Amino acid sequence: MFKTYDVIVDRLLDGAPLDRGEALDVLATPDEEVLHLVAAASRLRRAHFGDQVKVNYLVNLRSGLCPEDCGYCSQRLGSTAEILTYSWLPTADAVREASAGIRGGASRVCLVASGRGPGDRDVERVATIVEELRDEHPGVEVCACLGLLRDGQAERLRAAGVDAYNHNLNTAESRYEEICSTHTFDDRVDTVAKARAAGLSPCSGLIVGMGESDDELVDALFALREVGSDSVPVNFLMPFEGTPLAGTWLLDPLRCLRILALARMVAPATEVRMAGGREQHLRSLQPLALHVANSLFLGDYLTSEGQAAEQDLQMIADAGFTVLGADSGSGPAADPATDSGPAADRSATALRLRGAGTTQAPNA
Ligand code: SF4
Repeated sequence: MFKTYDVIVDRLLDGAPLDRGEALDVLATPDEEVLHLVAAASRLRRAHFGDQVKVNYLVNLRSGLCPEDCGYCSQRLGSTAEILTYSWLPTADAVREASAGIRGGASRVCLVASGRGPGDRDVERVATIVEELRDEHPGVEVCACLGLLRDGQAERLRAAGVDAYNHNLNTAESRYEEICSTHTFDDRVDTVAKARAAGLSPCSGLIVGMGESDDELVDALFALREVGSDSVPVNFLMPFEGTPLAGTWLLDPLRCLRILALARMVAPATEVRMAGGREQHLRSLQPLALHVANSLFLGDYLTSEGQAAEQDLQMIADAGFTVLGADSGSGPAADPATDSGPAADRSATALRLRGAGTTQAPNA
């Protein structure tokens, strides 16, 4: 089978689209062939993005208290997840948080607010944050994620200097009602279209691991291709306690690699981001995923903690990739002693004081 992946990739490099049968085959890749699949998909990644990793940083401007009922979301109506809840961050706090991410290596800041969609006052609030952020960091890309947009709001955000708008399609149209009853798949498609029409780069992706079938996953990715998403975040369900999907653990690391490879092959030139949940679901295979995905979020997510930001940067360096923008001075500095990244762990080797020869429990 693995010779076929390279044949398919040759075709994709010539501009042909991946078809449904091929997409289903990718998801059915046997475990022992996943490395070949990753190698083939990495040819697309390298052709379009070289060795660069785009680092994004999330700022949650308003957390929790949402009237919508998206089943996967810790901020939803009725969620009892013990997350931080707060209304709009003051402008200075939002700029300070975003600046920390930029100093940490992010070339794109994602300004997110919970809720069905912004009021016009909220849009003005975000416009002010963006204008102040741009004064301090003229080169940074700004993405807004504020929910469903009404007429004119995308244009106002664009005028304020927003580059991109995130609104995920999340899953297949055919199962949207299972995950949300307060808005529809079409509502989401409409907002992606509004963003695009206003000149904002559409960022729209998925949440996988919610019980979708392979066919539904292919439908969702083909829908993202159809709406012309420039950037596809692939979120791996984080099943928060206190939400309807608590306890839903349906993914394993190899499945996550197949899904990322499929996202890359469906839209070869699109930014594919390994997004929320990568730590729990890709686990030790996160560095391998960088050969397919060209983007990640640094540090923490909206309502949960990610792995340490330094660990993210070290992982990128260890896997032989570079942070987009690092050579322009906006990214993390390389370690001068080893040139192997920002924080190569050269802490002293810890002497074993447990297990054999001691009365302490072994590390097993
Ligand atoms: S995904 Fe957005 S709209 Fe849905 S419940 Fe969460 S914050 Fe609200």
